Amino acid sequence: MKYHIITYGCQMNEHESEKIAGILESLGFEASKSKEQADFILFNTCCVRENAEHKTFGNVGALKKLKDENSSLMVAVCGCMMQQQSVAQKLAETFPFVDLIFGTHNIHTLADMIGDCILNKQRVVSIQEGDLSIHEDVPVTRHSWPLASVNIMYGCNNFCTYCIVPYVRGREKSRSAKEIVQEIQGLKEYREIMLLGQNVNSYNGGGVDFAGLLETICAQTDVPRIRFMTSHPKDLSDRLIDVIASQPRICRHIHLPVQSGSSNILAAMNRGYTREQYLELVRKIRKRIPDIALTTDIIVGFPGETDADFADTMSLLQEVKYDSAFTFVYSRRNGTKAAEMENEVGKAVQKERIMKLVALQNTITEQKNKCYEGKTVRVLAEGISTRDQGHVCGRTGSGKMVNFAGNKDMIGKFFDVEITEGKKTTLFGRITQEQG
Ligand code: SF4
Repeated sequence: MKYHIITYGCQMNEHESEKIAGILESLGFEASKSKEQADFILFNTCCVRENAEHKTFGNVGALKKLKDENSSLMVAVCGCMMQQQSVAQKLAETFPFVDLIFGTHNIHTLADMIGDCILNKQRVVSIQEGDLSIHEDVPVTRHSWPLASVNIMYGCNNFCTYCIVPYVRGREKSRSAKEIVQEIQGLKEYREIMLLGQNVNSYNGGGVDFAGLLETICAQTDVPRIRFMTSHPKDLSDRLIDVIASQPRICRHIHLPVQSGSSNILAAMNRGYTREQYLELVRKIRKRIPDIALTTDIIVGFPGETDADFADTMSLLQEVKYDSAFTFVYSRRNGTKAAEMENEVGKAVQKERIMKLVALQNTITEQKNKCYEGKTVRVLAEGISTRDQGHVCGRTGSGKMVNFAGNKDMIGKFFDVEITEGKKTTLFGRITQEQG
């Protein structure tokens, strides 16, 4: 029996697909690269943006032909989108051929759900609500070597007014530091660990805060590189800045979503900080860790965003000079507070603003990448370049992608690379020394 998983959305979803793969492999399934050869096809969905729903429905609908040709094929849909009862119901009604629908809280019961589906020859829909416990016994199959993701917490308490995540993933729950350390100790062959959570800065594992967790991981594991994502600016403590500064194995990169440069819009978004507080935090981080790279998320066209508010976002970009930014046009999500706000920004204005924002950030990113020319950086070779098979690609601790001549035997090793050219998205260079 073969399985094929299609994952949409963030790294959290990618990691949950690794857990689903782990469960399927424990049942004897093998991974299939193509849908056509699979006996079990699963869509792990995302609901953060409005157009994701159209895309998912389109892609699930396209499977009907395969199902008609092979009646024993099982089709499953799970993830954040299915955690919304109304959407799960709509999907069930639209596509009677889907065998299994489940939400974000009951991945650990997948083996039983598949068993019920096969034994009873009928569809299983299982969407659990509420704050549920953490299940530590779920197997994980990773295809990401030399990188590995490790969840440190689930859910979010922040209720940013535009965001659906707290409604579909529930309140924050942190894993114990002991369980996290044990998992990382078991990942000896991996060279870089990404600690994942919606807001890692509010991690609280039985009295251990995120700074304490990082210290414990540094003390009790040998992993050469540690990253984390995502940091909420309101919860990033001075102690955490000190720990990052003092531990060279923690990557010099903080993804620090600002969302808007206007204090009015930040208040409407319920972000819990003002423009001034955010800028003060940036100054503090840069003073303590001068080589830190900062990246961000920005939303334009939030309800009520005026020309002046947007100008504040543009000026904040100029002031902070992020290494890169994920930029989005506001997407209305039913069930959130922002969806009830009346003063929506017109599509034409949103489009104009996002184009200006992207153009400015591209210029900043390119300027910053140019500054790397002539410098030597430490890179972990992660894979063969998709553009040129004679090159490998990998990241610096600051998160910059670097391409250099090499082959697959170099993957998983660290190299010192002299940067010869800094382009918009990638740096190019040549190896000066292998570090192993
Ligand atoms: S911090 Fe805000 S944007 Fe991030 S997941 Fe929580 S509610 Fe959503």
